[in-house]
Amino acid sequence: MNPRQKTRPIFVGDKRTGIVQIGGGLADSKGQPGEPAPVVVQTMTAGYTHEIDRCITEINRLAAAGAHVVRVAVPERKDTEALKEIIPAVGVPIVADVHFHFKRAIEAVEAGVHKIRLNPGNISDGGQVNAVIDACKDAGIPIRIGVNEGSIVERKDKQQRMKELGHVFSEHKHGAMLSIMIAKLEEYLDIFAQRDFFDICISAKSMDATLAIDAYAEISKRFDHPLHLGVTHAGPRETGAIRSIAALSGLLVNGIGDTIRISYASDPVFEVEDGLELLYSLGMRERVGAELIACPTCGRIQVDLFTLVQEVREKLQSQIQLPIKVAVMGCVVNGPGEAEGADVAVFAGNKRGIIYVQGEKVANIPEEEILERLLSECETFQDRVNRGEVKLGEKKVDIIPPDPIGELGSGFDKIAAGDVEPAPTEVTIGKTS
Ligand code: SF4
Repeated sequence: MNPRQKTRPIFVGDKRTGIVQIGGGLADSKGQPGEPAPVVVQTMTAGYTHEIDRCITEINRLAAAGAHVVRVAVPERKDTEALKEIIPAVGVPIVADVHFHFKRAIEAVEAGVHKIRLNPGNISDGGQVNAVIDACKDAGIPIRIGVNEGSIVERKDKQQRMKELGHVFSEHKHGAMLSIMIAKLEEYLDIFAQRDFFDICISAKSMDATLAIDAYAEISKRFDHPLHLGVTHAGPRETGAIRSIAALSGLLVNGIGDTIRISYASDPVFEVEDGLELLYSLGMRERVGAELIACPTCGRIQVDLFTLVQEVREKLQSQIQLPIKVAVMGCVVNGPGEAEGADVAVFAGNKRGIIYVQGEKVANIPEEEILERLLSECETFQDRVNRGEVKLGEKKVDIIPPDPIGELGSGFDKIAAGDVEPAPTEVTIGKTS
């Protein structure tokens, strides 16, 4: 992991919603910038903003899923009007996504929005941009400049500008488009600089993950504004996740990016969940809620592990708040090693499951009882952590005698009969003493 690139911070939100810092360093005890601000997860509502009650419900769902900031579309006057009721009713900072009509931005600012997103591709008139800048300056809120590939220049001159500017990045796979994005961004930023407005965040999204990587890398070399990462039009979650993570993880590992939005043609709650999981996986945010480890299953499996894992995942999300590591393993042959470090683990086999809590066996139960018992052990463990009786990650699930393979009724007799492969050494699980 490379250190995060230094950016100047912007602040989104108010006292009521909490203020989210994007970019820059967190203030230390002397008020000086210290550790980089954690990367922020954003998403966007999928419903109409003017359907006020539905919009509030959707924003609350996204906030409950962990979104730090939520964006809403405001294509019409009735949408900016709706913001007057929506913003006081939700507990998360709201961004207004503005295209084509600069007046929507002004109206959104008047309605109390916490940030504006502008697209240089469709609001480029200097006078209009200045009007938005002045409104945001007066309100003390930042602006995101989103130079998305799809809308960065008007269709009529796109080919011409690509030809004119392509030589700047001629050695580059995406040279022409990259040139346009950077040139448009520079042009646009000049308007803001002339107005002495630097409360800015930048995005440069593309549906092509490699172009997004190159665009953000080039922009991060040129500007110190915080970067909002994303791959646009990534498709449904099944493929969009791969496309998004391919671009975002590479950038984040290289220290580029201050806020992310994963975009799916699907429920935006998935965008939030996957954005958070990406940051947890890279160690860029402290996990909230349980961490689930599960084996992929193989020919040794003897329970319906896929169903069990899905059910455990859903229940953990609603019942466990602490970052307890929970392992659901298909067998005791390789499971213990794979579950190493788990606080609570179940090893299944022969229609039964053995449950361990920090290396101590607590149950050997039939398959149909695994879910309920595993969750109750997780809750009990969470209560004990909250009472200070145990610590997270304190013990490992150790690989030691005696033999739970035999305990599950699928062990030595099967090995002796040649039905299963013996483990390389005497393999079992439990406490070391
Ligand atoms: S834990 Fe057991 S069932 Fe699961 S993948 Fe590993 S060896 Fe196969």
